[in-house]
Amino acid sequence: MHTYQAAENALENKVILITGAGDGIGRVAALTYAKHGATVILLGKTTQKLECVYDEIVAAGCPKPAIVPLDLKGATKQHYRDLAATIEQQFGKLDGLLNNASILGALGPLEHFCVSTFENIMKVNVTAQAMITKYLFPVMRKSPSASIVFTSSGVGRQGREFWGAYAISKFATEGMMQTWAAEVGKTNIRINCINPGATRTGMRATAYPGEDKDKLKTPEELMPTYLYLMSDDSAEVNGQSLDAQPK
Ligand code: NAP
Repeated sequence: MHTYQAAENALENKVILITGAGDGIGRVAALTYAKHGATVILLGKTTQKLECVYDEIVAAGCPKPAIVPLDLKGATKQHYRDLAATIEQQFGKLDGLLNNASILGALGPLEHFCVSTFENIMKVNVTAQAMITKYLFPVMRKSPSASIVFTSSGVGRQGREFWGAYAISKFATEGMMQTWAAEVGKTNIRINCINPGATRTGMRATAYPGEDKDKLKTPEELMPTYLYLMSDDSAEVNGQSLDAQPK
């Protein structure tokens, strides 16, 4: 799907929530979805970053977005219930959920892993994504064709030394997607994963500080797959884990 070309209005009338929308891949996905006609809900930790994305979207003449500042590490059931109620009240439905926000945490041998670091990574990368998906599911049922996308990684498909809790969390992400997808079967909701591959963002720079970043794909170059999974062209695709970059 790296070559998918979305029609300019492919996401018109869709409401799509993106987690981690203030930076990196999530920021570019939010801008791209908005430019294809979606009303985007920007969820993230740092309000100032979300406001910058909001301003860019408004300046580009796209549908007016919404901002949800929320730290997924401390978020409770009540936060997600309130979020679902607000979306239902304001928009009546949710057509897309891009579970994108994650943290890398510390890399290193599992033998030396700090337990609190492990727990924080699991909270943001796994528990928060399971909870937001569960609580937004009823409002997604109100969409004629809804798409949930989880964000995986190469280290969530094949174990690799020193990738620690991050890798474990990404295996969990693949499993969560497969379990959800098997349960929804043929309904109005489909659930898939994207593996972005090595991409020029802050997270990648932290993992590989010595790397030449100019050799990496930019988030913009991944957008064909991100658009495909949110557009109705993927309405029949469920339970797949797609690569956003050619192998
Ligand atoms: P990034 O540049 O670090 O951006 C991550 C985003 O998630 C930021 O907007 C960040 O917000 C948000 N976030 C982090 N912790 C949060 C929390 N507790 N609550 C709410 N939001 C939080 O990462 P990225 O490279 O774009 O990665 C996006 C996704 O792709 C992740 O799932 C990552 O695992 C996956 N991925 C990336 C690569 C790569 O090479 N970049 C490769 C494979 C998979 P703040 O900026 O406000 O902290």
